[in-house]
Amino acid sequence: MLVSVVVPCMNEEESIPHLVARLEKVVAPYGKRAEILLVDDGSTDGTWAEIEAARKTCSQLRGLRLSANRGHQVALTAGLEAAQGERIFMLDADLQDPPELLGDMMGMMDRGYDVVYGRRSERQGETIFKRATAWVFYRALNAMSDVDIPRDTGDFRLVSRKALDAVLSMPERARFVRGMFAWAGFRQIGIEYCRAPRAMGETKYPLRKMIRFATDAMTAFSTRPLKFATRMSFASLGFSALMMIYVLRSLILYQTAPGWASVVLAISLFSGVQLLTLGILGEYIGRLYIEAKNRPLYFVSEDTRGAETVPLRKLA
Ligand code: UDP
Ligand code: MG
Repeated sequence: MLVSVVVPCMNEEESIPHLVARLEKVVAPYGKRAEILLVDDGSTDGTWAEIEAARKTCSQLRGLRLSANRGHQVALTAGLEAAQGERIFMLDADLQDPPELLGDMMGMMDRGYDVVYGRRSERQGETIFKRATAWVFYRALNAMSDVDIPRDTGDFRLVSRKALDAVLSMPERARFVRGMFAWAGFRQIGIEYCRAPRAMGETKYPLRKMIRFATDAMTAFSTRPLKFATRMSFASLGFSALMMIYVLRSLILYQTAPGWASVVLAISLFSGVQLLTLGILGEYIGRLYIEAKNRPLYFVSEDTRGAETVPLRKLA
């Protein structure tokens, strides 16, 4: 198998026919040496029916159905684990990433690269809010983490078997796939493209999922927020020292220091800081707990290739 195309799909029934039609054209030159893997991430609409229907006309297509919604990154991981190709191409189901770029990416990989990622030079049809939060997210993530994660790139990329196996050997449950590829290293290069608006349907990333995705990424790739507590303690010690000078001076001069406002302010400020640091600690501890449980990431309930119901993920 030369190329595997992996697409996570959640409630994408309208997109599937367009997606398959465009992908078929793109992989046509590779014939039987290409496979298209559509992972149904616990959709509640007709996505699985669409995948099965598409399979009748497209012999290269394979559908994988997860037992429940596990989120974009896990669905993608499920597809990556099932992929058999020497080169693996991943994209979103909504056709925001042009599949036609595969040819160019293959060309770059021929020149010896292991990861060719798409960099969004422009984002069309996305709300100001989405673009602004994405902009802040990539910059904050890079400022905090020790890994250089390419800015403004998604999971749209072509990777070699070598790079993929490296990423799949990482056992963590918090999957932040693009960061994991960045961490894995190998020879990487970006290719600029213009991100189209969503072809059909609406975004499957509501604010709640976006926040989860961002906190997962930050906690998985940085421990810097934990150092926040230490920094804040120095700041509050400094502040207390200044207050002490003021209070001592008033005592010496037989003046009472006026005001409950300053007391209330100090209490609420410092309890805010304390709760914030506790919250940050909690985020990490919660994730430690999830990692420690070591549950399988997902279960496959249906596979158009066979009746596998065991987790594909092999646990050590
Ligand atoms: N997706 C998924 N599971 C989810 C949410 C999203 O498999 O829980 C898929 C979705 O079908 C799409 C991709 O992840 O193929 C990216 O989602 P979307 O296009 O909605 O995100 P956006 O482009 O708005 O950030
Ligand atoms: Mg999209």
